[in-house]
Amino acid sequence: MASLEGCVAVVTGASSGIGEATARELAGHGATVVAIARRKDRLESLSSGTANVYAVECDVTEPESVRRMVDRTVSRFGRIDILVNNAGVGLTGPALQVDLDDWRRMVDVNVMGVLNCTHIALQHLVDAAAGPRGVADIVNISSVAGRKALPGSSVYAATKFAVNAFSDGLRQELASKHVRVSIVAPGFTKSEFIEHIRPDLLAKIRASLEAMPAMTSEEIAETIAFCVTRPAGVAVSDLLVRPTEQER
Ligand code: NAP
Repeated sequence: MASLEGCVAVVTGASSGIGEATARELAGHGATVVAIARRKDRLESLSSGTANVYAVECDVTEPESVRRMVDRTVSRFGRIDILVNNAGVGLTGPALQVDLDDWRRMVDVNVMGVLNCTHIALQHLVDAAAGPRGVADIVNISSVAGRKALPGSSVYAATKFAVNAFSDGLRQELASKHVRVSIVAPGFTKSEFIEHIRPDLLAKIRASLEAMPAMTSEEIAETIAFCVTRPAGVAVSDLLVRPTEQER
């Protein structure tokens, strides 16, 4: 597997779950990793326990916060080769019971967060692709819900359908510039994801969620690493990864 020595990777949502595992995984492949999220304490415990992982507090919904993070990354490490747009929330529940604010937050984090980070980092990725590695990477974390909407997760699904559409259009725009755009769509994965569902709604579904077959965050992190360690001439555009026993 190709080494990521000399590469700088930005991983959003790195304070828990898939993002935290991805920060460790990419650092294990030799990358310098800028781990971003809002919970500074969690990022600092990740960075203090993992070589080559640096914590930067950043809210992906705020363009100015993203701009500061990108400027700090480039002024300290000189480049951005890999952007993993992983930060996301799934505030699921029936339309008649959820709050409008939860819908807005999902759109803000899952869609605007991806757009903010991509837009602000893009020129640096294009510049990196013109360097000796010959390629740069954007990996957008979608979901099984980005392929099929189900009752109770219509808005979450809408955000992930949006991520897929954005990724595929951007992939075609950036192909000639050697910036690969990959979609990684996980099935059910153990993380803090369900903890953000409104407590009264979660109480009703926690047992069924906990009984579902699940993957580990590390297993999805390995899939992300697979995408970014392909040879420069090979782009993995779209991967759907489910627990073996997950039916839909
Ligand atoms: P998680 O453990 O809850 O992690 C979510 C991460 O997003 C946290 O690090 C959180 O950090 C960050 N985040 C949330 N709002 C943010 C903001 N405004 N700015 C910056 N960071 C923010 O959940 P996960 O399962 O690892 O989720 C990661 C991705 O996988 C999401 O895109 C999710 O949709 C997707 N996914 C998950 C599953 C699953 O079953 N777990 C399945 C399919 C897809 P802070 O709170 O510290 O900011």
